[in-house]
Parts: sequence; C-alpha cells; structure tokens
Amino acid sequence: MGFSVLKFGGSSVADATNMSRVLDIVGDALDGGRVVLVSSAISGCTDGLLACADGDREREAELMDRHLAIVRRLFTGAEQAEAAAEVMRLFAAMEAAPAEEKVTFGELLSTRILARKLECERIRAHWVDSRELVVKDDLPETYRRIRAAVAATDAPVVVAPGFICCDSSGRTCTLGRGGSDYSAALYAAALAADSLQIWTDVPGIMTANPKQVPAARTIPGMSYRAALEMAEHGAKVLYAPTVAPAMEAGIDIEIRNTFAPAGRFTRICAQADASPWIGVASQGGEICLVGTEEADFADATDTVRETLRTAGIAPLDVRVDGLNLLVRVREAIELPALQALHRAFFETRPLREVNLFIAGFGAVGKALVKMVGRTAATVAERTGKTLRVAGLGDSRRWRIDLGGVDSLDGAVAGDFVDAVLDLAPKGSVFVDCTDSETLYKRYPDLFRAGLHIVSSNRRSFAVPYVEYAALQAAARENGCFFRYETTVGAALPMLESLAIGANSCDEILSIEAVVSCTLNQILSAYGEGPTFASLVKAAQEAGLTEPDPRLDLGGRDALRKLLILAREAGVQLEEQDVAIEPIIPASLFGVPLDAFYQGLEELEPVFAQAQRDALATGRRRRFVAFLEKIPAGETVISTKAGAPSVISTKADRPRGEISPLGYRAGIRVVEVPETHPAYYLRGTENAILIRSAFHPTPIVIQGPGEGARQAAASLLNDILR
Ligand code: ASP
Ligand code: MG
Repeated sequence: MGFSVLKFGGSSVADATNMSRVLDIVGDALDGGRVVLVSSAISGCTDGLLACADGDREREAELMDRHLAIVRRLFTGAEQAEAAAEVMRLFAAMEAAPAEEKVTFGELLSTRILARKLECERIRAHWVDSRELVVKDDLPETYRRIRAAVAATDAPVVVAPGFICCDSSGRTCTLGRGGSDYSAALYAAALAADSLQIWTDVPGIMTANPKQVPAARTIPGMSYRAALEMAEHGAKVLYAPTVAPAMEAGIDIEIRNTFAPAGRFTRICAQADASPWIGVASQGGEICLVGTEEADFADATDTVRETLRTAGIAPLDVRVDGLNLLVRVREAIELPALQALHRAFFETRPLREVNLFIAGFGAVGKALVKMVGRTAATVAERTGKTLRVAGLGDSRRWRIDLGGVDSLDGAVAGDFVDAVLDLAPKGSVFVDCTDSETLYKRYPDLFRAGLHIVSSNRRSFAVPYVEYAALQAAARENGCFFRYETTVGAALPMLESLAIGANSCDEILSIEAVVSCTLNQILSAYGEGPTFASLVKAAQEAGLTEPDPRLDLGGRDALRKLLILAREAGVQLEEQDVAIEPIIPASLFGVPLDAFYQGLEELEPVFAQAQRDALATGRRRRFVAFLEKIPAGETVISTKAGAPSVISTKADRPRGEISPLGYRAGIRVVEVPETHPAYYLRGTENAILIRSAFHPTPIVIQGPGEGARQAAASLLNDILR
C-alpha cells in the first residue's frame, strides 16, 4: 500500500484541541494507505526557542507550560505522567544543548506528543528522527535513509519532525524557517508517495494573502511553476523549496485547511494553469502578479498603471519579469496597492448588464450611443453596471442585436416598439430621444413588458394630466422606473430638485423657470444690434426654433416644460391653467411665415421701446414660466419684482379668483432686476428658482439648457440612477 505524506503547520498543532483535529485527519487518511505525519513545532515555539537561545528564561517557562497543558488535555493517568516526563526530559536536553541547536527541539516536542497520542488511540505509530534521516543538501542520501527507516517498520503511521536535519558531518541543523513543508516533500519524494498534503490554517493557496486581502479566494488548481512563483514572491502559505522535490517525483501537492478539512483547497500539479493570471504575492514593497503563457502583459501593464493611478498610488517601477509582472511601491503603501491590484485582476464583481433600446437616432441619440461606449469602463467601475446598446430605431426602421449595436446600418423596416416588445429582455431600458408626439402612447405597453423608460422627449408630457398620471401608474404597477430629467433644462437637475421637495412633503411656494432656450437666445442677444425679427430668423436658421418659430414665441415649448415642472412638484397643472402672454401679438399667428416676419419687422419700434424701458430701470427682459401658490384668502394679485403682475386665465376654463389647484401659472416676459439670477443668463442658458416652505430663499439652478452632449449625459444619468 502506498503512502500519503501529511504535514501540519504550527497553528494546526497549536493546542490540544487542534492536535485532536490533526489526529482525526490522520485517522481518515489511513483509509487510503499508510501515512507519514510530518509536523512543525506548536505555533510560536520556534521563535520562543530562538529567544531561549538568547537566555530568555521566561519564554522557556512559558513554552514548557504550553506543552504540559497540551499533555494534560490529551492524556490521563499513567500516560499523562509519562508524556509529561518526556516533555520535561526534552526541555532538559534543550537546556543542555548548544545554543544553535535549541531551535530544533520544537519539532521534537510536537511530534513526540502526537506519536504518543496515536499510540494511546491504538494507532500504531513509529517515530523517526529526521535529524538522522534528512541530510541537508544531499538528496540521494536523504532518500536512501528515509526509505530504509520506513522499510524497517510496518506501523501504519510514521511520525517525523519537520524542519530539523543534519549536515553532511552529522551535526544537527535545520532546513530554514518554514522548512517543515520541505521536510514533508523530501519524505514524499523518497517514498514516491501517492499524495503530499500540506495542512495549514487557510483554504489553500489564495489569489492573495487573505490576511491582507479579505476578498482573496482559493486557487483550486495551479501548476508547480505558478506555485513556486507565488511562494518565492512572498506567499507564506508554502515554503518555496518544497515544490522541486514534489515536481521531480511527479507528486501532486495539496494545500489544505486543518480547520475546514472538507472545504476548498489547492492542488498543485503538472497541469497547465487555467487562467491568464494566477494570483498576487508581495514582500518588501515588491508586488508580484503571477501570470501564465496566456497573460497579455502589455494590457496588464496598462491596467496596473491605471489601477494604481486611480488609487492615488505612484509606482516606483512596473516591469515584466518572465511570466510575472513586478510592481514596486513604497513599502508603507504596499497593502493598499496590493488590495487595489487584487481588485483589478481577481475580484470580478458580478456586473449587472443593462440593455438599452434607443428610439430616435438624431443628435441626442447619436451622442448617447457614443457616450455609452466611451464611458463603459468608468460606469462599470462606479456603478457595477455594464450598459449595452442592444437596439436602435427611428420612425421607420430598427436594428436589434443583444450583442450590441452602434448604428442603424443593416436596419430593417418596421415598428421599433413592436420589435422591442418582442425581443427586449425584461429590465431593459427604453430610451425615447425622439420628437414624436405619439410615441408616449406605447409607454404603457413597454412598462407592461417590464421595460424601464428614460425620455428626453417633452412632447409626451404636454398631455392632459390624466394621461400623464396613467403613464406614472403604469410604470409604478410594473415596477419600472420612468425618468425624464432631460425634458427640462437638459442636464440641469431641475426635476430631481423638485422631486426631492415633493417626496419630503415640502410645500412649493413658487417656481420661476427661464427654460425657453430659443427665447433666451433672442432676448439676451437683443439690444443695439440686429432687429428682433432678424434674431428670430437667425435662431430659426440655426435650428434653434421649431420649423415655425411662432411655436416658440407663442410659449409652446415653455408651456410643455412648465407642465412637467409643475406636475413633478405635485401640482396637477393642465395646459388651460396656464396664462400665456406671447411675446408677439395674436394677429401674427394666423398668417403665412413671410407675412409673419414682415409684421415682426414692423413691430421693431415696439420691441425697441420695451427694451429701452427695461434698461432705464436697470432691468432685463426674460421669458419666464412661473407657478405660484396663491396665498390663502388672497384675491388681489400682488406685484413684486421678478414676479408676474398680471395673471389672466383662459376663457375655456373659467374659474374664480382662487384657482382650484391653489396655484396660478403663467408664461410671459418679465423685466428682471440685476439681483435676479436670470439677469445674467446668456444664449441658451436656463435657470430655475424654486421657493418652498423649506427653502424660502430660493434654490437656484442655472446653466446650459440644451446641447446634444448635455442631453446624452442627462439620459445616461437617468439610466444609471
Ligand atoms: N517550526 C519552523 C518554523 O517556524 C518550521 C516550520 O514551521 O515549517 O520556521
Ligand atoms: Mg510553517
């Protein structure tokens, strides 16, 4: 029958309880054949003995106590007395021994106790003296002596001290700190053992030292070479010289956990490694990433540099060394560097995949597709999500590929939403970047199919409140999110700011929103230079307005935004609640476009006068959409700076002076003083002032109100939020 060689480390034999575990493991191993049990000294013993050699009597007394305590726990009666007497004899011998030999007594003590305990349990154990069998630096002689000694006994268990040996002249010495592993390998190789098991206090060789990197995990299988690299570069779990004898003899090495014998472990064998990177070991400020033939070193070097840069660590050196990547850092920051590198190479956080189906492939849709591609790594790092554009469509055609798409090339004709309903996995996000006035009618279908919706299309919201509420309900009932921050003020967090208030039952007192990019552009540019009409024309030509600019001048766009703002604030505003005072007279609406421009040109003196009037009082004209709580009991509308002075209601919804909502709303040109945030708005900038019970001095948000990239960023934020 063959042999198994089982080696136990210091912590595995630290006390009586642990020694009992060891004996259980040995007992089990005996089912498979004879066992050579190699043991270290009990933990801390070797250090203690080195102190004894320096004359530390206290350490000696402490060590003796620990061994006697073990003996008292493991044995009773006469056997206890005999074992205790043996411990005392060994301590006496240790005292008498030359200083350099004192360190060899730890393994004598532990193995003597183990052998005795086996005998007590009626397992025949034969103790051999490694000081006579292991000849340092002489493998053939060592193997010959071990074979002879083991052949001389038929005991099922041979117990051998690790670590200790003799030199060629026969003087007792050691194999070096941690050398018991090597002793075990020598016994295994000499006996052509079936297996070599190194039993320790961690579950095998791990991707990093688990005491330094808690996320480290067991490497189930690895090559001799990789194990050797790990050991040589600082992995303390295995003494590096152990590998060679086992490898030459073709014996697998198992690294197992005494404290979880049936748990995970590492098998080191002749097989090739399964993954490009094995693990990371470190010592003295040098971190070694152990790689294999499969590893891409150029790529990994980049990853290392990028990872350390993100962690705020400047490496002293990064270089390839054989199949390893060596990273030198200041020793003081070795630990955080090690952890960061382990995270980058070995902690594959399960990334959540999010499929995007983007309707509308205009400027915003294109910017979004580009942004998703460009930010993938950052997004994954920050949010744990991988975004993939899985479908694109416009009003006529679509393309869906769950592997990812980035253009409409190869699109098929047909209805995109139908295709999405057919093919999109539940939990995907449908992104509406269209200008469609009807697409929102499909939203409930999408919600029912389990899709979330993110939209930049404000036309979907200029619908009666009941329809708006139905969309919200459909989202809620299907557990989907429905986000549309982009619809007002592009990327400016206007809706979010209102939602925070609404959710916390803050009471909105007023909203003043300068959200019409077109009118801001025109009003802020108007002055000494071009006429009002020519500015409108320029805006139209720049694509800033609707095809018919009167829709903007009439306040249509501002109205949509105001509805969204109000509803987000919890006010059930309807289109007809909003008193709009267009910037142009009603007579200019029903006429052809060129007649409109003509009429506008004729109105130039009126615009110029209004401008002069404003300037004379140090004010500027701004197109403001507002929502204002009507103070209880108030019937007369006050006039205050920056707030509207005249409120009119549309005739088709007659009502009393107190609105049923408790709010009044309007859109009009207001002359704002220099103290008003909108005073300094330029071009297409937007601003919103939110006054609430909690924020009587307003929350002010202002900044760019449009732009494809801003919109894409805002959509992305809604997708990830
Ligand atoms: N007892 C020795 C040491 O602590 C040998 C070993 O544990 O492997 O270095
Ligand atoms: Mg050890």
